Amino acid sequence: MRRAAPPPQPKMAALKHRRTALERVEKFISEVYFTDCNLRGRLFGDRCPAASLSCFQTPRRIPYDEAVRQEFTPAKVGDSFGPTWETCWFKVELSIPPTWAGREVHFVWESDGEGMVWRDAQPVQGLTKEGEKTSYILTSSLKETEPHSMTLYVELACNGLFGAGKGSMIAPPDPDRRFTLTKAELVIFNRDVYELLVDLEILLDMAQLLGEENQRSFQALYTANQMVNVCDVSDPSTFPAARDLAAAIFSQRNGESQHTIHAVGHCHIDSAWLWPYEETIRKCARSWVTVVRLMECNPELTFACSQAQQFEWVRSWYPGLYAQIQDFVAKGRFIPVGGTWVEMDGNLPSGESMVRQFLQGQRFFQEQFGQICSEFWLPDTFGYSAQLPQLMRGCGIRRFLTQKLSWNLVNTFPHHTFFWEGIDGSRVLTHFPPGNSYEMHGRVEEMLKTVKNNKDKGRVNHSAFLFGFGDGGGGPTQKMLDRMKRMSDTDGLPRVQISTPDRLFSVLEKESSQLCTWVGELFLELHNGTYTTQAQIKKGNRECERILHDVEVLSALALARSSTFQYPTSELQRLWRLLLLNQFHDVLPGSCIQLVVEDALRYYAGEQGVWMGEHWVLAGGAPESTLVLNTLPWERTEVISRTGPAGTETLGMSNSCIRISSRGRGGWQRNILPPPEDGSITMENGVIAVCLDSMGRLTSLHLVGSERESVPEGCYANQFALFDDVPLYWDAWDVMDYHLETRKPVTTLLKPLEISLAGGLRGSASFSLQIGKSSTLTQEIILDATCPYLRFLTQVEWKEAHKFLKVEFPLLVRSTNATYEIQFGHLQRPTHWNTSWDWARFEVWAHKWLDLSEHGFGVALLNDCKYGASAHRNVLSLSLLRAPKSPDATADMGHHQFTYAVMPHRGSFQDAGVIQCAYNLNFPLHPVPASSAQCPEAWSSFSVSSPAVVLETVKQAEDSPGAMVVRLYEAHGSTVVAWLRTSLPVQEATLCDLLERPVAGGCLPLEQRGIRLSFTPFRVLSLLLVLRRDATFSHLDNLEERPELKW
Ligand SMILES: [Zn+2]
Repeated sequence: MRRAAPPPQPKMAALKHRRTALERVEKFISEVYFTDCNLRGRLFGDRCPAASLSCFQTPRRIPYDEAVRQEFTPAKVGDSFGPTWETCWFKVELSIPPTWAGREVHFVWESDGEGMVWRDAQPVQGLTKEGEKTSYILTSSLKETEPHSMTLYVELACNGLFGAGKGSMIAPPDPDRRFTLTKAELVIFNRDVYELLVDLEILLDMAQLLGEENQRSFQALYTANQMVNVCDVSDPSTFPAARDLAAAIFSQRNGESQHTIHAVGHCHIDSAWLWPYEETIRKCARSWVTVVRLMECNPELTFACSQAQQFEWVRSWYPGLYAQIQDFVAKGRFIPVGGTWVEMDGNLPSGESMVRQFLQGQRFFQEQFGQICSEFWLPDTFGYSAQLPQLMRGCGIRRFLTQKLSWNLVNTFPHHTFFWEGIDGSRVLTHFPPGNSYEMHGRVEEMLKTVKNNKDKGRVNHSAFLFGFGDGGGGPTQKMLDRMKRMSDTDGLPRVQISTPDRLFSVLEKESSQLCTWVGELFLELHNGTYTTQAQIKKGNRECERILHDVEVLSALALARSSTFQYPTSELQRLWRLLLLNQFHDVLPGSCIQLVVEDALRYYAGEQGVWMGEHWVLAGGAPESTLVLNTLPWERTEVISRTGPAGTETLGMSNSCIRISSRGRGGWQRNILPPPEDGSITMENGVIAVCLDSMGRLTSLHLVGSERESVPEGCYANQFALFDDVPLYWDAWDVMDYHLETRKPVTTLLKPLEISLAGGLRGSASFSLQIGKSSTLTQEIILDATCPYLRFLTQVEWKEAHKFLKVEFPLLVRSTNATYEIQFGHLQRPTHWNTSWDWARFEVWAHKWLDLSEHGFGVALLNDCKYGASAHRNVLSLSLLRAPKSPDATADMGHHQFTYAVMPHRGSFQDAGVIQCAYNLNFPLHPVPASSAQCPEAWSSFSVSSPAVVLETVKQAEDSPGAMVVRLYEAHGSTVVAWLRTSLPVQEATLCDLLERPVAGGCLPLEQRGIRLSFTPFRVLSLLLVLRRDATFSHLDNLEERPELKW
């Protein structure tokens, strides 16, 4: 008789209590609870301390070769090192126990400083606890043939991923911080446990985040619960069954319409911020070597990497690593993006600087990797100029990625994928990753947010997802990749594919028929204090932009005049790259620590020492006369001063760029009238007339011969005002709307207005004010003969805390819009606060001028180094100085000198020459001592027939020493034909793009009238001019032939 088999035991169904099931799974993988009996507690097996540990410490960042030659002294886990910014090199002897055969062995290093592991003289792994990287994998399965003993070096920087802020991330660095070594050991890593943990984390996230209305949430929960049932943590043979359960649910596929996420590895590294430039070099190496390790183990991993400067740093400091990177670039996996030298500020650099960001960047990428970037990449910058689309297009780029506008404080930007149209009409396809981040971790929550947040649902169904620790570096981790592998196509979650920027944008381009267009600037409604903070950096930037402009112009002309002249090609490249580096989006905006400010000012000082005007004049002869160099493309008649041999200053008048005699031509009309009894002073120069009160304020300003007043009755222009300036968090970055409610006019007079120069070619009057409790301001108000603007040469001793100084010009002008100069053009912004989009722009930026005009009349405000401005109703304000205390406690303290000017004008600002006057203020004439023989009557190289067109740049062509590049732009906002004439022996003229690549069909005929150029509003044109080298060149001959030429 056979006995019947026992009936199968019915499997226990999951109980219906959602909360206990959820928390049960949570506890099973918890790092905090029940680690003695849960799965997490089994992640690591046996441990073994380092066989020996020794170290030596240095204040400098030194190369490996130098470090290993030093004397190392014994160290141990638990020791602390410092202070901040020092470097500790550790020598670590390891010996893996033979009983670990077949096991995965990690070297685990934990410290609050940033570490780099060196092995056999090569950097092999970045270890940064904050970036979730504490393991260097020695072997995935220890074989007998493998070395069991080895020596590693660990280079430990005494700073964290975000520097060393005292008390908060953006506080000034704590100079005395100590950094502790908490782990240095060998461990067995149980990969099967790790894989199960990743499965369970994702299922738990799905269960929680998809919510009770979603059946996938319950599937995930019950699967996870069942996995806990199946797993016996002490018996790894039970793990595969649990993993099968997870695999079964992850492999349930989506429908065709599901959103696709393009995941790209990324590591945003601020080129300097809460740490100095020098540390960034090591951050790049730590982050990128880690990426290379990940790429070796994960053949699908891609990594988008911006900033040519950082590649250049790694190239020169870590050649071995750089060679590995080059291999992965060639494979299309390590992907250079952005095309710029650094991720620069998007508002303040000049048009030419922005061109050079691309020129230096794209040429670097071309030289090093044989390709230029096809996407502009600026995810973390504080607003984007409306001129950028044209500049991108001119540099071979049609695509743009950022996400910073998600930081808007007031208005939510209405798109994630759209066409962005600049002031000239150029358009670029623009994408903001809808998850509003460039440092995702591959979590379920981020995937769901990306889909849900997408503002262009129904228009496009693909989006970017940049994963990896960022800002301070770090980059992707294995865990991020392992998460996303499981989510590649799982019903209920978006499809996730490891992709590339090119693949994403290519798909978006195909889907672009339904996309909307955003016209004009991408203004960030936050961080508006960055137009003003760290005034010396701003001033250094403006000055060096001018110096490089002038040096290039004069060098190019010297080269044209003399074939023996050595154009300073490599020196100019070096200087440009330093200037471009300082335009990084935490340096030029002033949101960096004091160490960075010191570096930046040192770089500027190096550039300020460069001046080659003297070299331009051939040597010889007694300098009894003065040659005046004008680097702008129009004729100028200005008062210039020349310092004589005895140190005495003489004034002279330049006209049409001729030499002046060493004695000033006096006898110009009287500038200043005698003061009446109320202390007021009247100045007049035949063009403008002004009445100043004893505090230097304008009570009247008008054009001579016109009754049209600029200053409203009872108002004062050139009125200083002080505001409380306490933002909500981002101290150096933010000025909040409510600062406007704290306005206090500055009215404490230290020294009343008095005449300092009574007249002749120049008249001036000066006064001093007390600002706040301890700051002082001295101003010289200067009116030059024939000059259409009144200059304010200002000195400030600034000792405030959380105050904001502005100067205001209330004007008798009514307009709903004010005009602001931007790169190669201008734009308008409202003067009212009708809507939230209007009032969110209570503090804006401008370059050399802003203007408020009504029909037939207006007033412009010019400046030589300021960027912050505002126009509310009829008041133009220039933002002068701030006093934030984080991250640089000394920001802006001390002495400042700057100049601004006011210019009333008839007609439009275009017709009145405001643009040219702002250039004149910024590009002073250069009087150079010379002998009479060297001073021609006048010599000019270029002229442009239309006042709407500005010839901005003259330089040697990058690829052809015998050619020159000239760049012009339409500045009025008009469609116009202009003739470019030159006295140089031009043999061939071709239109080129901003990378100086000839445009197909761009050859331009050389006609009797010059070269015909046609412009649409704000169009930037570049020309390659090939010069005849054999030409016998005489400036005087040329001048006689073409008397109208200028320069
Ligand atoms: Zn950044």
